Amino acid sequence: MSEEEDTLANFLETLDEAAKRLNLDPNIHKFLRKPMRTLHVSVGLLDDHGEYQIYDGYRIQYNDARGPSKGGIRYHPDVTLNKTIALAGWMTMKCAVVDIPFGGAKGAIKCDPKKMSRDEIERLTRRYTYMILPMIGPEKDIPAPDVYTDEKVMAWIMDTYSIFKGYAVPGVVTGKPIEIGGSLGRRYATGKGVAFVTQKTLEHLGIRNHPRVAIQGFGKVGSGLAKFLYEMGCKIVGISTTAGGHFDKNGLDIPRLFQHSYDGKVWSEFENTHFIEDMNEANKALFESEVDLLIPAALEDQLTEKNADLIQAKVIIEAANGPTTPKADQVLNEKGIFVIPDVLANSGGVVVSYFEWVQDTQAYLWPEEQVNKELENVILKSYDEVLKRAVKEEITMRMAAYENGIDRLAKAIQLRGFFP
Ligand code: NAD
Repeated sequence: MSEEEDTLANFLETLDEAAKRLNLDPNIHKFLRKPMRTLHVSVGLLDDHGEYQIYDGYRIQYNDARGPSKGGIRYHPDVTLNKTIALAGWMTMKCAVVDIPFGGAKGAIKCDPKKMSRDEIERLTRRYTYMILPMIGPEKDIPAPDVYTDEKVMAWIMDTYSIFKGYAVPGVVTGKPIEIGGSLGRRYATGKGVAFVTQKTLEHLGIRNHPRVAIQGFGKVGSGLAKFLYEMGCKIVGISTTAGGHFDKNGLDIPRLFQHSYDGKVWSEFENTHFIEDMNEANKALFESEVDLLIPAALEDQLTEKNADLIQAKVIIEAANGPTTPKADQVLNEKGIFVIPDVLANSGGVVVSYFEWVQDTQAYLWPEEQVNKELENVILKSYDEVLKRAVKEEITMRMAAYENGIDRLAKAIQLRGFFP
């Protein structure tokens, strides 16, 4: 299996390296290398043509030593069990790095939602919810949106779960619409968190004067962060998506592009940019562009040993989960590129999900300013903790983040003890 295909091995490689550096108790290390609970379901769907289709679905609870499991649900044709376990492992590490009282989880269905009707997606979601029902719940495991799922999907999960319980249970998912218990500020929380982390990094490295930025992905995360970075004075010179990439060396008009996308207009029809239609060509141009910041915000395993050497950016901020393979990471470090790891950079989503869960549990809603302020506090405190360790031990930000996360996980595992 190539390194791009073996996402789980990539996660474990970083975990093992950090465990070795920490001289971690081998029993705890063994514990952290395996997902706690794995559910594989065959999700049946009666499609719009009256035919029965079966999709592979998963829900993984990787570790709950520090609290209920937490992690998104992805609908994507490239989903595998192996990738879903890796994503659940990253969630475990992320919740520990930012010190919120959750363990890590992930769910996924191997399907292509772009080829399905809204009704089919709703039926698939409800059936999947029914099939993972024994695993989820506000005290056990709380899903959220991920790639190609959104607030609507969360509303259907909340409704299906509530129907089976016989009463409304808003706390079973986060990232749901405000009207049914969602949190103000959650929709763009991941992007906002990336913007806080970016600002801190620019200050730390002394990069000023309208930093040039390239972003891969313009979905829930990429679009929000483009808007926040634009408002901070960054010049976004390229954005690639599955539908191609827009480039402008003088800076893209982000408010107009954001509106274009929000209105559901065709991506390629956005005017007055240099447009590359082919996704692979667009990604190549993006990764090789001369920028201060490169921000992958699409999928895992994008920066690999095949393209790492061509990257020109001074800094990489990992808004996506697992965008850099360990081999690429090594090349980037050797080139002196400063990398802010996913488990810190994109943690704004899960932090505000935690706030949403707190609000649902207490049935007490917060104003948006409070959500944003508390997000800033949590993320900047974690950033400082990671940077301090990286400087002190002369290690990468990724290694420092993993060491902080593993310390907290190991402590929780030790305190709870091994049952029986
Ligand atoms: P999304 O479905 O809203 O958007 C995905 C975007 O990536 C789309 O613009 C799509 O066109 C683009 N894309 C997909 N494959 C691509 C490719 N090969 N090349 C170029 N562009 C490609 O998903 P999202 O929620 O924005 O998630 C993006 C990443 O961020 C994922 O890695 C996800 O796990 C991670 N993440 C999401 C959240 C969240 O709150 N949604 C939180 C933390 C991390």
